[in-house]
Amino acid sequence: MAKHYDFLVIGGGSGGIAAAKRAASYGAHTVVIESGRIGGTCVNVGCVPKKVMWNTSTIAEALDDARDYGFDVTVQGFNWPTIKKARDAYVQRLNDIYHRGLDEATVDEITGVATFSDSHTVSVNGTELSASHILIATGSTPNVPNVPGAELGITSDGFFELEVQPRRVVIAGAGYIAVEFAGLLNALGSHVTMLLRKPTFLREFDTTLRETLMEQMIESGVNILTHVRLERLQKAADDSISVVMGNHASIDSVDSFIWAIGRSPNSAKLNLNRAGVSVKAGGDVIVDDCQNTNVEGIYALGDAAGKWMLTPVAIAAGRKLADRLFDNQADAKLYYENIPTVIFSHPPLGTIGMTEDEAYNEYGKDEVKIYQVRFTNMFHAVTKRKPTTVFKLVTVGKNEKVVGCHIIGAQADEMIQGVAIAIKMGATKSDFDRTVAIHPTSAEELVLMR
Ligand SMILES: Cc1cc2nc3c(=O)[nH]c(=O)nc-3n(C[C@H](O)[C@H](O)[C@H](O)COP(=O)(O)OP(=O)(O)OC[C@H]3O[C@@H](n4cnc5c(N)ncnc54)[C@H](O)[C@@H]3O)c2cc1C
Repeated sequence: MAKHYDFLVIGGGSGGIAAAKRAASYGAHTVVIESGRIGGTCVNVGCVPKKVMWNTSTIAEALDDARDYGFDVTVQGFNWPTIKKARDAYVQRLNDIYHRGLDEATVDEITGVATFSDSHTVSVNGTELSASHILIATGSTPNVPNVPGAELGITSDGFFELEVQPRRVVIAGAGYIAVEFAGLLNALGSHVTMLLRKPTFLREFDTTLRETLMEQMIESGVNILTHVRLERLQKAADDSISVVMGNHASIDSVDSFIWAIGRSPNSAKLNLNRAGVSVKAGGDVIVDDCQNTNVEGIYALGDAAGKWMLTPVAIAAGRKLADRLFDNQADAKLYYENIPTVIFSHPPLGTIGMTEDEAYNEYGKDEVKIYQVRFTNMFHAVTKRKPTTVFKLVTVGKNEKVVGCHIIGAQADEMIQGVAIAIKMGATKSDFDRTVAIHPTSAEELVLMR
């Protein structure tokens, strides 16, 4: 007979681990099945190693600025293998912490690929396990298109395996991963070209932010090609890659070509049909706003469900699900409005709520008032580098409720979390105005906009 659990979680990533630990804290007999490295995308090939590389690249910029502040800095070089080794060791420490955390929470852990046998039974390593509740938290995988030579490129997963710094890099994609990789490699001295199919990147972000970022990236040396019709990648005699486009000159001698063109849910190999679980055309598991699939007792969240593909979203949805299933919190669910997010670009970008265009569409132009300020951060008063900072508040109605905040500039990544609390609480522009500024900071502009 199959071993039985109260809660069986497929996928030991951000959402799966959070849900499992919360469920176990309520006494649910819980198991996590993970086919790869514990921690999932974020820890192993996502947020964590990416942020380490972003930190590295901001140090490169700071070293430049240091000269303008009077320091006699001579940089002898940058050793990619040093940071790669330290980063890998950090990720390994996190893996160990996650294993220990599950053990301490009395969650069983199984390494293997899980597939559904039926709506209550999952098979792993030839063993059948049954459960009252099953969570699909299997995450997503980077897309590679069907163009000749596509296999010569790497994805974000491959980026984190690079043992040496690529000198000439081409990145295809217009999402945040493409933008982040382009920014950090450029700051570290690689020659970077971005290929966009459309006129701009980050199309779902506020226009002012993405336009400002694009100007800054071009100014700092990133080559951005738009309306690109990519025809093929081919290998040259010296093992480098040539990128052939229909409407731009070919780019030769490329060390690394990176596909950053979106991700697809890991649902195809789960045998969901045996359980009767419905998916969308692209494979996203269909869920309602409480993470229920169409089959009673089976749930999905995080990247596998394809909505707001961010670590804290998967974690929050997982915890709420466990609260609902195992702590009688009948109404517990994650509200998907006003989710703050950051792009670790150069400079970084922090955003929450409606963009200017979304507010116009939703409320009409007469109801919306925009507050915006553009300036050079005081840090750069004495440096040659003069990145632009922009703050934008989107407000609606007579009482000017703040429904969106968009910031590009140094420390935008650290600022937006505090603003998110105010917006989540329903703050109005006058609440911002009543708050005393902190001087001299860049953040003070948040409460000084007229
Ligand atoms: C380069 C990059 C940078 C990112 N940066 C950020 C960031 O800065 N901030 C942020 O919030 N988010 C970031 N993300 C997104 C974030 O990593 C994901 O949204 C998050 O990890 C999703 O969590 P999840 O639990 O849904 O899936 P995952 O964390 O991917 O976990 C899914 C797990 O399921 C396992 N699995 C799959 N199929 C099976 C199976 N059949 N059986 C058993 N196990 C299975 C996988 O091996 C994986 O470990 C980034 C992603 C990438 C790729």
